[in-house]
Amino acid sequence: MSKLFAIFGNPVSHSKSPLMHNLSFQGLGYDACYTRYLLEDGSRLKETFFHLKLKGVNVTVPHKEHAYHACDLLDPFAQKIGVVNTIVEREGKLYGYNTDAPGFLKAISEFKNIQTILFLGAGGTAQSTSSILRDEGYEVTLLNRSAARLEKYKEAGFQTYTFDTFPRKNVHYDLVINMTSAGLEDDNLPAPKEILDVVIPKAQACVDVIYGKETPFLKLSKQYQKPTKDGSDMLLYQGIIAFEYFTNQAYTFNDIKAHMEKAFVL
Ligand code: NDP
Repeated sequence: MSKLFAIFGNPVSHSKSPLMHNLSFQGLGYDACYTRYLLEDGSRLKETFFHLKLKGVNVTVPHKEHAYHACDLLDPFAQKIGVVNTIVEREGKLYGYNTDAPGFLKAISEFKNIQTILFLGAGGTAQSTSSILRDEGYEVTLLNRSAARLEKYKEAGFQTYTFDTFPRKNVHYDLVINMTSAGLEDDNLPAPKEILDVVIPKAQACVDVIYGKETPFLKLSKQYQKPTKDGSDMLLYQGIIAFEYFTNQAYTFNDIKAHMEKAFVL
């Protein structure tokens, strides 16, 4: 019988993951199918997984912490950050992984000679990515609109600022990354323009985790003639790494990429 995979989220109808994974299953000749499932109650994730007879899932907003709690076994990195976005069933047990962070790491690794990184935003995506970047030797500073979200980063030893406390002189970051949802469904910049006008000109490059549109942040970065990148590669790479888990490493990263990237031009 064909293996069944899905993405759990709420909302989930906009997700590109079914197309990405189905193109790869089809292109590589792997007997499986991937669908989307609107999961309203995250506490029913495990029960729903088994009820639908799934082999694996990706989990998106707002259920990534529920996914962490639903797993029987966790990969060490997922364990460390407490966030799971990929689950695979093996012999009745659920194995949990986080592929967002390594996907993101790969996406930004094309920028060379980067040491210092400024994160605009301190939400869930910042949580997993700041941890992996620090493990890889980058120095990450977080700037967030509200102070409350910064507490746990401060406790973990990161340098953190709110808009009020950010020093507007003598600051330099090699890479500036929009980790907020500002610009996703509005025309907001992720931080006051006066701050961005200080940090963007000194950066080597600017990255946005939002994909499929040019956000006000990316527009401003281009006005300063900075190399830019949106969140498409992050999405693609997290999907490829998830696919590797789904298929028990049966294919290489580049074999999967050749098929999965077609989802971004369809
Ligand atoms: P969260 O809801 O966990 O966090 C949102 C963050 O954005 C908070 O730091 C919040 O600040 C900040 N924020 C929201 N609106 C504004 C605004 N108008 N001005 C300044 N700051 C703002 O979100 P996630 O971390 O889950 O997602 C963040 C972004 O990452 C989303 O746009 C999402 O689409 C994108 N994403 C992309 C992926 C990809 O594969 N490319 C994968 C996952 C996410 P405050 O604390 O003050 O509220």
